[in-house]
Amino acid sequence: MSLFLISCIILAEIISSFRFSDHIEANQVKPGKIEIRGIYGSPNPFWNKNISMNQLNVNAIFLNWHIIDASLMEQAKKEGVKVFAEFPALNGKGYVENHPEAWPVDRNGKKADQASWFMGVCPTEPGFRQFRMNELSQLIMKYPINGVFLDYLHWHAQFEEPEPILPETCFCENCIRTFESEMSIDVPGLDTKEQADWILGKKEKQWREWRCSVIQGWVKDARTIVKTEKQDGILGIYHCPWNDDEFNGARYRILGLDYDKLRNITDVFSPMVYHGRMGRKPEWVRENIEWFTRRIDAKPESFPKIWTIIQAYDDPVKISAGEFEKLLWFGAAAGSSGMMMFTSNAVTESPEKTEVLKNVYGKWKSGK
Ligand SMILES: [Zn+2]
Repeated sequence: MSLFLISCIILAEIISSFRFSDHIEANQVKPGKIEIRGIYGSPNPFWNKNISMNQLNVNAIFLNWHIIDASLMEQAKKEGVKVFAEFPALNGKGYVENHPEAWPVDRNGKKADQASWFMGVCPTEPGFRQFRMNELSQLIMKYPINGVFLDYLHWHAQFEEPEPILPETCFCENCIRTFESEMSIDVPGLDTKEQADWILGKKEKQWREWRCSVIQGWVKDARTIVKTEKQDGILGIYHCPWNDDEFNGARYRILGLDYDKLRNITDVFSPMVYHGRMGRKPEWVRENIEWFTRRIDAKPESFPKIWTIIQAYDDPVKISAGEFEKLLWFGAAAGSSGMMMFTSNAVTESPEKTEVLKNVYGKWKSGK
């Protein structure tokens, strides 16, 4: 290798190390690129302190659909901020206890265990599907919201832990019969265990693909409901941020999230880059958003977009105001064009984090 070439490589590494240094400069985010300066959670704790969204340079509120009411919509309208509803698609808690037919079934034919604090549901069970889609229709008709973000959009599992819980489900009668008919496969076996073993042993590829198509079906149906009532309504998803390889491809393999199936029917992806909860460094947020931008070919000016959700709350580790500031910049990397944090209350409780939020959003608002 020539001396010139070696010099070039060293120079490129020096430039690269500056570009990706931990010191985040405002000019790394293009002026006007961040269209959504959001909070996730109720704005009431701020309003109770007489702090308006405008004072914080916030222009969008994301919150659970159960806490949306007329007075919140009224105040949001007054302040000119958008409202997006978080809608728990496949959260089975509160439903499966009274509807055992919707409880996810493991490969031994038994009811799947709860996955730490999360309890999923069988995504093909017709009664549950009808129930959830009815709820979504009611929500979109009741309030003039700007869109809906599907949450818990995955087969029964738990990814928000350093050691995720990744069971093989669902082998209920309905799932196996639907898999057979949609994939033109006859599953032999006398009981659930034999059938599950045969599927995972002989038709694993088709099984994984079919499971992803079930999740795709949920997004398609939700999209139809949202767009029928509100043509310009946004359909977003909160989702596991793992790349294609992590945990042996578990995002696709177990959760059933296939970005190639979802990118044409999803307006906004909101990767849940909760670094503290997942036991990762703040820098991972930036790496993940850079990877994800390439993965779905996201651009701030066209769909599908990325609006990042970062961790602001102090559990299981304390997030200092300085770290929070880093996270805001990291989350705004590459093709991200929106930001929110889990949760707004964690920011309200800390005057320092509130100041950081206001300042960073102020810079993005003025395009500095
Ligand atoms: Zn099932």
